[in-house]
Amino acid sequence: MHLERVEMIGFKSFADKTVIEFDKGVTAIVGPNGSGKSNLSEAIRWVLGEQSAKNLRGMKMNDIVFSGSDSRKPVNIAEVTLVLNNEDRTLPIDFTEVSLTRRINRNGETECFINRKPCRLKDLTDLLMDSGIGKDSFSLISQGKVEKIFQSKPEERRFIFEEAAGVAKYKTRKLGAERK
Ligand code: ATP
Ligand code: MG
Repeated sequence: MHLERVEMIGFKSFADKTVIEFDKGVTAIVGPNGSGKSNLSEAIRWVLGEQSAKNLRGMKMNDIVFSGSDSRKPVNIAEVTLVLNNEDRTLPIDFTEVSLTRRINRNGETECFINRKPCRLKDLTDLLMDSGIGKDSFSLISQGKVEKIFQSKPEERRFIFEEAAGVAKYKTRKLGAERK
């Protein structure tokens, strides 16, 4: 599985529709300060299920909606879509291409879509569980996270290995069943 494309509209500094295509292999994003490199990584993290505005450098979640600039009026909706190549069926869904979309308006109301069909955020994060690309998984290492992994307690560190091994899903289900 790999990320083929990110489409953003109204997300942080990306007021206009912006489509970024990724080839297989290594991609490096370079650009001057303030050009939106971190915003792009936050767009990805947000669709993968980030729930903390702070982790997206905001006070509240709707701070991610483009708030206007000297030459542009603010917009009302932010929408980000990740298009994943699922030819190898890493995601347990019978589609070669899977699009994951998250949308938020100024009032903070959010919507999620899998292949353009409305769903809950939980459906989206469940789909990603054990794929290695969840927002807290090993595929996203943010600044400061490296030290955090080294300094974490063994139990916390174990979760990273469980996710990599693909057993996190079953543990979460077991916990859910035990709580009922
Ligand atoms: P650096 O090299 O300094 O890390 P960067 O390329 O990572 O820079 P970002 O942090 O992604 O840059 O982008 C910051 C820019 O995004 C700032 O100019 C900021 O004003 C703008 N920005 C962030 N949130 C919003 C928003 N909601 N609406 C409009 N602009 C925003
Ligand atoms: Mg940055």
